[in-house]
Amino acid sequence: MDYKNILVVIDKNKSNGEITNLSRELLAKAREMADELGEKVISLAIGNNMKDIAKEAVFYGSDKSIYVDDELLEDYTTIPYTRVLDEIIDKYMPMAVLIGANTDGRDLGGRICARRQIGLVADCSDIELTEDKKDIKWIRPTFDGKLFSDIRISSFPKIGTVASGVFKGAKKDESRDAEIIKENITLPEEDILTIVKEFIKYPQKEKSLSNCDIIVSGGMGIGEKENWHLIEELADAVHGLVGATKPVCDMGWVPVEDQIGSTGVRVAPKLYIAVGISGAIQHIAGIKKSDIIIAINNDPEAPIFKHAHYGLVGDLFEVVPMLTKKIKELN
Ligand SMILES: Cc1cc2nc3c(=O)[nH]c(=O)nc-3n(C[C@H](O)[C@H](O)[C@H](O)COP(=O)(O)OP(=O)(O)OC[C@H]3O[C@@H](n4cnc5c(N)ncnc54)[C@H](O)[C@@H]3O)c2cc1C
Repeated sequence: MDYKNILVVIDKNKSNGEITNLSRELLAKAREMADELGEKVISLAIGNNMKDIAKEAVFYGSDKSIYVDDELLEDYTTIPYTRVLDEIIDKYMPMAVLIGANTDGRDLGGRICARRQIGLVADCSDIELTEDKKDIKWIRPTFDGKLFSDIRISSFPKIGTVASGVFKGAKKDESRDAEIIKENITLPEEDILTIVKEFIKYPQKEKSLSNCDIIVSGGMGIGEKENWHLIEELADAVHGLVGATKPVCDMGWVPVEDQIGSTGVRVAPKLYIAVGISGAIQHIAGIKKSDIIIAINNDPEAPIFKHAHYGLVGDLFEVVPMLTKKIKELN
């Protein structure tokens, strides 16, 4: 069988109706690899009223932009989206498929590979062609992020998911032109196992963690949810946004959107204040582009101090309220 070209599953940001940054990032990577291979980038937008997104994908590097519209595809549900992707793969036979490792994409990646009985590399931290350009290196963290594995997939198409912030987004080029194809795919009734009743928009912040100047981030050192106000008050005093480590989000103390790190948001503020954060490699991966990192931790051996420009060894329950008070006085 002749598998060729790279398929990118793209999606729409439900809050602003635009193509997502993650889709732009995947399109950029696919473009780079396709150019090296002399092949094409095919994009696939699944949803309802996706023609505009398919058009946008062309401006961001797609050579053939497919969209599939159906009211039943308005919101992501596993089985219908898997059917669409499955049929598109059968028809277009891509050698590789890139899917965003957001909540929906992680689900879709696993499901499509299970259905086709093929390999998947989830949450890649890099993707590149082998030296002889005959295969793809799917690189992902392993052993708690202490090592990076270079994985090869022997089945076709080779499918990988990639989180946001791993690649630089493609730049818009409105002079690009390409074929836009509407594919009609019938969704049998037995596929509709879930109906999304309502889509509740996550409140949009004026500034987001990925583009703000100051972030105060809290870790498990904060002890319990009831103490989280200490982080919020310090953030308020320095006019910054609040971020958190993964376990803090997993505990439900803050929304998962505030998670910073390799599987969360990657940030690059002028000032990053890490409070009660140990400095695990996955967290550091998300903050290393910060101009200045200040760490507050009661363990002088905490790894965060190796990455911080300024370190404050002390009990956060004493240090943070004092700092907040002092900064407020200076404001
Ligand atoms: C595949 C994978 C992906 C991951 N992705 C991410 C990610 O994106 N982001 C992320 O953050 N993590 C991620 N993790 C988890 C990561 O490995 C760490 O477990 C996590 O970052 C640790 O969070 P923490 O620093 O809040 O907690 P801990 O490691 O428990 O550190 C708490 C720190 O608080 C200090 N402390 C305690 N009490 C006080 C006090 N009173 N005053 C001052 N300091 C105090 C302690 O000395 C300690 O250093 C990932 C893990 C895996 C396996």
